[in-house]
Amino acid sequence: MLQPGKTIGILGGGQLARMLAMAAAPFGLHCHIFAPAGDNPAFEMAHAHSEAAYDDFDALARFADRVDVITYEFENVPAATADFLSARKPVRPGPKALAVTQDRLSEKQFLRQAGLPLADFFAIDSLSDLEAAIAQTGLPAVLKTRRMGYDGKGQVIVKRPEECPQALAALGGRSCVLEAFVPFLREVSVIAARAQDGTVRAFDVCENRHRHHILSQTVLPAHLTPSTAAKALAYAATIAEKLAYVGVFTVELFVVGEHDQETVLVNEIAPRVHNSGHWTIEGAQTSQFAQHIRAIAGWPLGETRRLGRVVMDNLVGEEAAGWAQILAQEGAHLHLYGKAEIRQGRKMGHV
Ligand code: AMP
Repeated sequence: MLQPGKTIGILGGGQLARMLAMAAAPFGLHCHIFAPAGDNPAFEMAHAHSEAAYDDFDALARFADRVDVITYEFENVPAATADFLSARKPVRPGPKALAVTQDRLSEKQFLRQAGLPLADFFAIDSLSDLEAAIAQTGLPAVLKTRRMGYDGKGQVIVKRPEECPQALAALGGRSCVLEAFVPFLREVSVIAARAQDGTVRAFDVCENRHRHHILSQTVLPAHLTPSTAAKALAYAATIAEKLAYVGVFTVELFVVGEHDQETVLVNEIAPRVHNSGHWTIEGAQTSQFAQHIRAIAGWPLGETRRLGRVVMDNLVGEEAAGWAQILAQEGAHLHLYGKAEIRQGRKMGHV
């Protein structure tokens, strides 16, 4: 159990790290943020920061010396960095969760082995792989890079067989996964946490609406039957146990089939706090950020009860300029991330 006064090291300096640092403060814990040079809105919320590259091992060693436990705000922490740090201080969630979730192929293989339902998928390393795979999935199908994809980046929809070469070229000839296209009705997510003693607690299922592949709105309660919601929560618990996970994680799912045919397919796992969980700051008994801090500190998890109906709107790009009108709305909680400049498609805040 981490004692108050100890220091949490966080890899990544964006809004998730910022909100983690803000959640650590009321517990009397300090944060030390490690991030490469750039706009790092988390720095100003932390006791200390290191501005260095993720492969600067001297800087990583100094960072490890100064912290008591290490976590991260993004799943693309290089494996060498995670291994180097975990030889020095506990890294939570552990390197296994990172290794599984930073490669879409290993993530899907893991989900299949765990017996969870997901769209058919195939590993793609060549044009002939792709042609053989679309014969199985049918068209349309979704081609995704195995690594470094987010917010719809690193993926293309293949609609006709003759598009195969250009789809591979568009993804830079990188190793990919082809997935059957899922004609989903809705997208939902489960944010859950697993404590060091194995206790798992989840927040209510979130319903997520995207615009231009970026999360635009999260609504609770989600529109799905109690039995579908129970399935989604059970899948999250299975994932947590099979990964021996410690911390908060997110499972994104597709809702398919109407009425009594309704069910969910797992899309992906994020080994971290998530944009669709920002509503928990004011909308739940414990926020996802406080929950993550509790879990990685070896503390008991907080209660996850939702306090009411919730709508979370992301403020993307110029939408953040509307902050004054938002302040005037009753019941609205404004969060601005303190980023240096507004850019198109950039997450500037949320309400
Ligand atoms: P991902 O990066 O895998 O979360 O995909 C980003 C978004 O693309 C998802 O939130 C869906 O809206 C859409 N998408 C991804 N995979 C599929 C699929 N197999 N079928 C239909 N839509 C998909």
